[in-house]
Amino acid sequence: MKLVSRSEWGAAAPTGPYTRITATRGVKIHWEGSPVPAGLAADHSRCAGHVRDLQHAHQTDPKENWIDVAYSFVICQHGFVFEGRGLGRQNAANGGPTLNARHYAVCAMVGTSGSTSASTDMLHGLVDAIEYCRAKGGAGPEVLGHRDGYSTTCPGDELYAWVQRGAPRPSGGSGNPSPQPPTPAQGPAFPGRILRLADPMLHGPDVQTVQHRLIERTWSVGPDGADGWYGRNTRDTVAAFQRDSTANGWPLEDDGEVGELTWRALFNRPISR
Ligand SMILES: [Zn+2]
Ligand SMILES: [Zn+2]
Repeated sequence: MKLVSRSEWGAAAPTGPYTRITATRGVKIHWEGSPVPAGLAADHSRCAGHVRDLQHAHQTDPKENWIDVAYSFVICQHGFVFEGRGLGRQNAANGGPTLNARHYAVCAMVGTSGSTSASTDMLHGLVDAIEYCRAKGGAGPEVLGHRDGYSTTCPGDELYAWVQRGAPRPSGGSGNPSPQPPTPAQGPAFPGRILRLADPMLHGPDVQTVQHRLIERTWSVGPDGADGWYGRNTRDTVAAFQRDSTANGWPLEDDGEVGELTWRALFNRPISR
């Protein structure tokens, strides 16, 4: 990982104490949501200055009471991971103290015009930051967008589509892929009934097993996480997993229902995509 520490990018000191955190559910992905100079993508020597500008803008924002840049990490088009508030500290980007405590905030240096599209190196940098939060910062497996659970267009449609695909590490580029965790050859036994969206709504440990497995596979099952209810979020996520499975050589009908074939794919299909 190409980590740029606060001292390396010339961070100003925070103007107040951080709120300490020891664990999160995972990571939320952001964009800047304003124009980002297109020239940044061609000249990494400008990226540190851009992060300093971002920090200054946040610390002097008249509407907020921010002590520091709002994000945990900021990723440039060259795949460098700029340390924002960093690990073990609550961010200020997700939309309020509860949301900020639940997920780290990782921001891609793209915006509404100028530099709008994430490069392969940037995607590697985003995955590097996610893995770093998990390995060193007590982050859980969730990868969501800022718009999940909060009314905003952030992180933009293109990055959000990548998040919904499970924030995969791209092939190629200059990243340094980590080995995938081993996949068990067998999962738990299929419960013997099809799990689906129904009325009354299905609830129970089998549903929770599916939700936990989806989250393990880096799919989001919605803002309530693995709550054991087979609601619309779970159905939609199962359907997305089924389509992804079909695209990766494990053909499944995308009906959003967990029959035996989908159950087996959830536990036996390799996680690397
Ligand atoms: Zn955001
Ligand atoms: Zn850069």
